Amino acid sequence: MKTQRKAISLISGGLDSMLATKAILDQGVHVEGINFYTGFCVEGHTHAIRKKDKAKPKRNNALWVAEQLGIKLHIIDIIEEYKDVVINPKHGYGSNLNPCLDCKCFMVKKAHEWIQENDFDFIITGEVVGQRPMSQRRDTMPVIQRESGAEDRLLRPLCAKILPETLPEREGWVDREQLFGFNGRGRKPQIALAGKMGIEDYAQPAGGCCFLTDAAYSNKLADLWTTRGERDYELDDIMLLKVGRHLRPRPHFKLIVGREEGENRFLEGYRKQFTHIIPISHPGPLVLVDGNINEEDLEIAARLTARFSQGKKAASVRVEVHSKKGDTTEMTEMDVTPYRIEDIPTEWYL
Ligand code: SF4
Repeated sequence: MKTQRKAISLISGGLDSMLATKAILDQGVHVEGINFYTGFCVEGHTHAIRKKDKAKPKRNNALWVAEQLGIKLHIIDIIEEYKDVVINPKHGYGSNLNPCLDCKCFMVKKAHEWIQENDFDFIITGEVVGQRPMSQRRDTMPVIQRESGAEDRLLRPLCAKILPETLPEREGWVDREQLFGFNGRGRKPQIALAGKMGIEDYAQPAGGCCFLTDAAYSNKLADLWTTRGERDYELDDIMLLKVGRHLRPRPHFKLIVGREEGENRFLEGYRKQFTHIIPISHPGPLVLVDGNINEEDLEIAARLTARFSQGKKAASVRVEVHSKKGDTTEMTEMDVTPYRIEDIPTEWYL
């Protein structure tokens, strides 16, 4: 009797991993999905916060893909272990703080450990030769196989035909002839294949699968490391970098200003951890103060809060200051003159 072979597929929630998984499922292999949560993922609640993203489906795309394909999905939290990948990437960063090659090696390594523990036979990814400048190049793809330890148990169904044969192909667990030879940055072959497979709906992530490919996000992370004097972060730090307008008037403190109701509500969850300011004479944002501030700094912070309120043109705006003192918070009120937009130095904006 033929042994039922089992594969784990790295599911990002995008089209490529969806197609790769379907191609192997269609060959009768038992496939389950694996999705690694790093904290930088674009998925999840952050889409639900802003009005401008209203049209985007509020779904976790990895879960949605698994559901469409009818496979089980394992979502694995790698937040702690992943820090070393972001902070010390052996292969360096891409155009922003995206350590894509180290990231791929790490994720395939974790998937390889998973198949060993769970008695699966091989790993699938949706990688395509030449698709991404760092991790999906002809010369870096073997690096992922080697450094992850997966070696030829790593199968890339979308470009397998232009890569050396892997174990699942050699052993006849999958038919190489039914795999693909996609190459390059174009998306047409994938879109055509989706059509053939009857896949009409899929996520189209712009740029990459995580916030680290985003220039504005990376600037804020670099600022965090510089001003703290160490390259480290906690989950709350990287979540807060996704939300609000960030301004750093002085090296020892910055402000996180809610840009709309959804962001204000999100920032409210952090009120107990930060000194925060709220305009009370006019509607306006909730502003978190990250850092220890003195009287002079407080004046700057309050005037900026007033600037981003609906009283920005008023002579004076009254704000409520909730100063964090140890475990307690002290509340005071003050009247301030809003900053004029031209008086805010551009270098304050992160
Ligand atoms: S975009 Fe982000 S999640 Fe995707 S490979 Fe690069 S670092 Fe990893």
